[in-house]
Amino acid sequence: MTAAALDDLRRSVVGRVIAPDDGDYDAARRSYNAAVDGRPAAIVRCTGTSDVAAAFEFARRNELEVAVRGGGHNPAGHCVCDGGVVIDLSAMRAVEVDGDGRVARSAGGATWLDFDSATQAFGLVTPGGVVGSTGVAGLTLGGGIGHLTAQLGLTCDSLVGAELVTPDGAVVHASADENSELLWALRGGGGNFGVATQLEFRLYPLDRVVGGLLTFGRDGVRDAFHRFRDVAASSLRELSVQAGLSVDESLAPVLTVAPCYTGRTADPEELRTLRSAGGLVDDAVRPHTFLEQQRVFDSPYGENRQYWKGHFVRELPDELIDILLARLVALGRPPGGMLIESLHGASKDGDGADGVVGFRHAAFNISAMATWQDPALDEQYVAWARGTAAAIEPWSLVGGYVNYMQADEPIDRVRAAFGADAFERLRALKSRYDPENVLRRNQNIPPL
Ligand SMILES: Cc1cc2nc3c(=O)[nH]c(=O)nc-3n(C[C@H](O)[C@H](O)[C@H](O)COP(=O)(O)OP(=O)(O)OC[C@H]3O[C@@H](n4cnc5c(N)ncnc54)[C@H](O)[C@@H]3O)c2cc1C
Repeated sequence: MTAAALDDLRRSVVGRVIAPDDGDYDAARRSYNAAVDGRPAAIVRCTGTSDVAAAFEFARRNELEVAVRGGGHNPAGHCVCDGGVVIDLSAMRAVEVDGDGRVARSAGGATWLDFDSATQAFGLVTPGGVVGSTGVAGLTLGGGIGHLTAQLGLTCDSLVGAELVTPDGAVVHASADENSELLWALRGGGGNFGVATQLEFRLYPLDRVVGGLLTFGRDGVRDAFHRFRDVAASSLRELSVQAGLSVDESLAPVLTVAPCYTGRTADPEELRTLRSAGGLVDDAVRPHTFLEQQRVFDSPYGENRQYWKGHFVRELPDELIDILLARLVALGRPPGGMLIESLHGASKDGDGADGVVGFRHAAFNISAMATWQDPALDEQYVAWARGTAAAIEPWSLVGGYVNYMQADEPIDRVRAAFGADAFERLRALKSRYDPENVLRRNQNIPPL
């Protein structure tokens, strides 16, 4: 990239342009996945729709690839590219709340911490992700599973409107009354249609929950895992619950269960059932604010290499639980972990007319999340995640979760995530809003 071209770009935008010579270039190009080491020609830290349009124009004129950065958490590292232009929304993080109208307008680069802090000031929530630094936009556009899924559904179910800049620089709005087909696609179809500069969400009253983490170890893990499965399967809508499997230093399995209860009972039976499992080594579940619940999980940014692969499953029988526990120690060293997200409750209310997510009928989403640091171990860890996903596959219902997919997923898995008919409908929309497939660093929907 010539200095003159970069100067042109700098003159055409209000926000900063970060180039390889700048001191903060390495920090600005960092992705959540340390295995992805893209070196873009320019990172445009946009301030609004006209900066986004100018960045698209610059990329087109110079025939450069485009990447979009929201919260930078996609495990495939899609927020950065090699030699191209990053449309970086990390300076666009304002969240405006209309408390009376119960609506929030979130700028395209806001994180869940930004969003929850703003909405909780009004005692309101939307069902978001479980790690505060994850981007609101990226997570919502791929579906969104979190601490309130059973109560309030997927994040994308609460998306009621959006402002997008399409690759030709046009500003497009989507809502129930305007471009409703586009709104349908944004509820699960990812960042394929344009850069979302604003997203509008429905809000619900909530400020306190009973939540936190229960940790099980020793020989109680299998029993606790069964109870987690049974509680999730029979749970009312007042309880969302997820579980994580990992190992301790001696490679012994550890199960972490994260309930989030919003009902009226002080001591609900489901929580008693979970707590009474053998092997409970730490009980940190208690009444606390929703903001505290949103801090239960944390994650270091850009420090570890990642490879995630999984399936939505129709059931979680004892046989599959035994397989998961065996896979946990199969690598002979800590593999990272596995995440098991229950999809009971309100996420089942939506249907294909409301949004494009194809996994509502699944019982659980099970993901192998290989996490390591030494590049020499890449092959082993990738093989572990693939092998674990293959072991889960016999129970698989639809393709994987687009929000967790790596860049090497075949198009068939992306198609299966939506279903063949919905995928063709998405492709027709892609042809309309991004016919040249400029936005292809994502779980891609190719134009027709
Ligand atoms: C630590 C961690 C925790 C997570 N927790 C959850 C969770 O609780 N629930 C869940 O469902 N998922 C979760 N995820 C997955 C996450 O939702 C997806 O990886 C999502 O893509 C991240 O969005 P982002 O904006 O942070 O990422 P980025 O890497 O910045 O963006 C990912 C992709 O999203 C699209 N995108 C982002 N912003 C925009 C925008 N404004 N306009 C258009 N397209 C955009 C682009 O295609 C981009 O390539 C988690 C991931 C991590 C790493």
